Amino acid sequence: MSPVKNIYFFGGGKAEGREDMKNLLGGKGANLAEMTNLGLPVPAGFTITTAVCTHYYQNGRKYPAKLNAEVAKAIQKVETLMGRKFGDPSNPLLVSVRSGARKSMPGMMETVLNVGLTSWTLPGLIGLTKNERFAYDSYRRLITMFSDVVMEKAEGIEPEEGKGIRVQLERLLDAMKKQKGFTSDTQLTAEDLKELIAQYKDKVIEVLGRPFPDDPQEQLWGAIGAVFASWMGKRAIAYRKIEGIPDEWGTAVNVQSMVFGNMGDTSCTGVAFTRNPATGEKVFYGEYLPNAQGEDVVAGIRTPAPINKAGRAATALELLSLEETQPESYKQLDQIQRRLEKHYRDMLDLEFTVEAGRLWMLQCRVGKRNGPAAIRIAVEMAKEKLISRTEALLRVSPSQLDELLHPQVDPSSEKGAFVVAKGLPAGPGGATGQIVFSADDAEKWTHDLHRKVILVRQETSPEDVHGMHVAEAILTSKGGMTSHAALVARGWGKCCIVGCGELRISYSTKQLEAAGRVYKEGDTITLNGTKGIVYEGALPLKIADLNANAHYKTLMNWADEERRLKIRANADRPEDAAQARAFGAEGIGLTRTEHMFFGEERIRAIRELIIAKTVEDRRRVVMKLLPYQRADFIGIFEAMKGLPATIRLLDPPLHEFVPHVDSEIGSLAEELGITTQELHGRIKQLLELNPMLGHRGCRLGITFPEITEMQARAIFEAAAELTKKKIKVLPEVMVPLVGTVKEFRHQAEIIRKVAGEVQAERKVKFAYSVGTMIEIPRAALVADEIAKEAEFFSFGTNDLTQTTFGFSRDDVGSFLPAYLAEKILPDDPFASIDVSGVGQLVEIAVARGRKGRKGLKTGICGEHGGDPASISFFHKVGLDYVSCSPYRVPIARLAAAHAAIKGKKPR
Ligand code: PEP
Ligand code: MG
Repeated sequence: MSPVKNIYFFGGGKAEGREDMKNLLGGKGANLAEMTNLGLPVPAGFTITTAVCTHYYQNGRKYPAKLNAEVAKAIQKVETLMGRKFGDPSNPLLVSVRSGARKSMPGMMETVLNVGLTSWTLPGLIGLTKNERFAYDSYRRLITMFSDVVMEKAEGIEPEEGKGIRVQLERLLDAMKKQKGFTSDTQLTAEDLKELIAQYKDKVIEVLGRPFPDDPQEQLWGAIGAVFASWMGKRAIAYRKIEGIPDEWGTAVNVQSMVFGNMGDTSCTGVAFTRNPATGEKVFYGEYLPNAQGEDVVAGIRTPAPINKAGRAATALELLSLEETQPESYKQLDQIQRRLEKHYRDMLDLEFTVEAGRLWMLQCRVGKRNGPAAIRIAVEMAKEKLISRTEALLRVSPSQLDELLHPQVDPSSEKGAFVVAKGLPAGPGGATGQIVFSADDAEKWTHDLHRKVILVRQETSPEDVHGMHVAEAILTSKGGMTSHAALVARGWGKCCIVGCGELRISYSTKQLEAAGRVYKEGDTITLNGTKGIVYEGALPLKIADLNANAHYKTLMNWADEERRLKIRANADRPEDAAQARAFGAEGIGLTRTEHMFFGEERIRAIRELIIAKTVEDRRRVVMKLLPYQRADFIGIFEAMKGLPATIRLLDPPLHEFVPHVDSEIGSLAEELGITTQELHGRIKQLLELNPMLGHRGCRLGITFPEITEMQARAIFEAAAELTKKKIKVLPEVMVPLVGTVKEFRHQAEIIRKVAGEVQAERKVKFAYSVGTMIEIPRAALVADEIAKEAEFFSFGTNDLTQTTFGFSRDDVGSFLPAYLAEKILPDDPFASIDVSGVGQLVEIAVARGRKGRKGLKTGICGEHGGDPASISFFHKVGLDYVSCSPYRVPIARLAAAHAAIKGKKPR
């Protein structure tokens, strides 16, 4: 067995790792290796693998025995390549120590820059760079980062709000600036910084009880340990939970020679995207900060300048772009980004530094993007022949598509609205909510008070992720389009405005001032994240017109070409049916007719029916409902214009239709002309201990056949009327909750008889079919018998899940959270199909059903019809269609295409 390799080197045009080694090297390490192998200017360094992280946690926070020697050897290699020595007083090498997990976790873990700078290597750095100010600036940054990350966080110290070492050091910096009358850090002189460093060192001892280490090795190992420790930090754990990243993955550590963006006016640092990550537009897009280190951009401390003229034109900022200040470096960067995008065949997120006019690449990774951008990028890249159509489809996740269905601020309402402030449109869409000023408050207000909130912060810190996640939107006064908040919000498709410089936010008084007005915690504002405008009050939101989005339409056409599953919608009203068609539904998979029974007159009629004592009475009363039902079905059939529509007969227990409050019972009794006691008695009769297992579904139709007759008549009279008008109809009448073939036969006989009668009476022929829901395990098991008589099956996976698990679908909330927390169940089985149990019944029923009837049509109309993971399963077992709510139809179309593409791929 070859010895385990703990370290992978990169530098001098050659790297030991590759892009496809992300699991071992983390995303950052793998991509640094790839860029090095492409011959791009990458500072030399090495990656300590994720396996070392796993070893570290499995062995009581101890490193593998050989690691020390391997690190020493790798440092030597870096020294040779860079011509400097780590810890050398006259020619010191400085390194950065950064985390890098398999999947990007922006800002959730730690970084320490300028490691190796001590009181005795500092003069060497000054000598080398002839830049005293820069050297001191780097030193004070190291002290800040190291004391915060290594000496405080990694030690598990949790100071109170405002008492952390970083905040305390930043206060010293602010005091110094104030004393000198400076507005920016860059105005501080070498002398100022020297004094500040002395203050910093004292503060570190005062707060943390030990000095900042003056030994490069101690700094290096402290930083490595802190990065590993940050994997198990609170924020990282919280983020992993939200993103579903397993704890076992671990992080890699990248140790890389420093290049400096803070060396003066010909130095800078920046972040860029090969295409606009908010809109997807094909323009090189980015931001930079002159004379700064990378942390300044991500932390959103200063608002950065756009990277190029195109970017500058899109913002109101006066700042000069890199293209204007350093045209040579910009040109080289532009060439590199083009090359990298071609190589990776995806939109990339790049980090770079220019050190004294020389460009260095520090990171590249596939860039996070929101839904609209994902669609545009995928479609345009396929048209540019960079990727295939199927790749384009796979590049857009169903949840990204979902973002397109998110609300936008209604443009007509914006005209008269009061503008509070304008900022950078970091996350598009619209949101309205109440202002809160901390992540904890955001969580409290949302969970405990059930309010919709907008989290307002000066700058967003990774510590805020829990609040950011629950908030409707995020608003910050500082930071740019690539600040941490913007990245995270974009990753979640959340509405977000950053760099809103006009806001003056006070955390202590919990208020903000802008446009001459004061807004307090709890006040309502509206954000237009697409334009970057904050409005006072609640503005109406509306869903965007998807069909006006050409990229979306193209992608959906491609999806339709790939998928095998048909997509239908669950719709109970003509307007829902029309909406579903607009989203691309190919029929109605479920109309729950009971939803049509509400409304004053209808509910009265159904109540009369329930208390009717004789069959004759019932037959007379039920016919009152006929005209309503017929009108409903006409509306639905018309909206479907010849596409099939499955109409389900009455399903719920009758007690759902009667009042349960005394006052209402009294007035109903009066209306119906009976005594209150009589009505009470009837209601009592209807009560069941387990209504979900009780007198419902086809059991109602069997005991009250006149209901089935009336519903069948309404359906067929509607069909007859439209057929006469030459409007094509395809009614599919569905019997609910069947468990035995005799139940089905009983109901089907009535339905077919009525169909015959109506066709004869109206002298018109129309096609129809009669089928059943499969939502009882017994029905799945005897599917062959049932299929001999039923012309189609539609799986009611809501009830099938309920009856297979024996979980009441209405009461599952009392124990399901515990089941998920304990990992007894991987997911909520009512949301995502339980493949091995409920799924098996579906498979059995399809196979046996098709034995009973060749070519039996099968579909599913439970909630799972809109869930991408479940759709993939339904594709595999060979259903003909899935049916979901109208707003899930686009998602189902894409998910069905994904399933088909993945199904074709060789395994
Ligand atoms: C089902 O049970 O899956 C179904 C679609 O019917 P309902 O939700 O109306 O019971
Ligand atoms: Mg059901």
